[in-house]
Amino acid sequence: MLRRVGIIAGFVLPLAALLLWGYFVLRIGNPGDGYVLRLALPDGSRGIGLPPVEGPADASRPLVVIDAGHGGHDPGASGEGTLREKNVTLALAKALREALLADGRVRVAMTRDSDRFLVLEERAGIARQLKADLFVSIHADAAETPDAHGATVYTLSDRGSDAVADLVAQRENRADDVNGVALGGKSNAVATILVDLSRREMRERSQRFSDLVVREGQGVFTFHANPQRQAAFVVLKSLDLPSVLVEAGYISSPDDARRLIDPAWRKQFAVRVAQAVEIFLARQEAAGIAP
Ligand code: ZN
Repeated sequence: MLRRVGIIAGFVLPLAALLLWGYFVLRIGNPGDGYVLRLALPDGSRGIGLPPVEGPADASRPLVVIDAGHGGHDPGASGEGTLREKNVTLALAKALREALLADGRVRVAMTRDSDRFLVLEERAGIARQLKADLFVSIHADAAETPDAHGATVYTLSDRGSDAVADLVAQRENRADDVNGVALGGKSNAVATILVDLSRREMRERSQRFSDLVVREGQGVFTFHANPQRQAAFVVLKSLDLPSVLVEAGYISSPDDARRLIDPAWRKQFAVRVAQAVEIFLARQEAAGIAP
């Protein structure tokens, strides 16, 4: 009996003390939130290691930054079974990198080439710090109705071109809400730094690249009925370089999903987007816009 009391005193009491200590530490640590444990998630200001730049060693060659949407604890949209947008976007981004490197005319960097999380501002930050000439963010759409299908190329605007574009931007911007703080407001400060004129010019150039993606994608992409739209995407907002967001198709559509998971289709997708990239950059060079 005494032995049993000794065991209780030796194990249970220290355990109870530990629990009590934990209870108070958590309460005192977060007086407003009770016992909610908060994890430190990355924010836009933390130092980010820049990804490698691949392709020709000649630093005067234009640089394309490819951004695979979502990643890590942010799966993006969900399709049938285990189909997740973050995996689709990474596979498409890697295919585009391969296609561009195979042509050997441009340099390429990826915001992520593994299953990791980046906040939207980090993605733009990588492109800015590397002084990219073009930013291509790749996503896949999802809708409640399985018949919604097709690819859409988005460029930045303060207001969406239509209600659907606004909804897509809201969903994509949500990636940053995991910290409980939407970053949307922050970009206003950045926007005011940009001279209106140059911003308008960047939007026009982004629009021209979007035109090329739609033109070069014919026959491979199944485009949405209204394939070029504008909306307020956070990932594009703080960029002062031509940039688009490609929703490659709906992972909620059985037909689109079949294409999106097919490596042969992804390769065709990549080849067509790479063509658009090269034509766009060649025209910029010809027009005397320094890459
Ligand atoms: Zn997305």
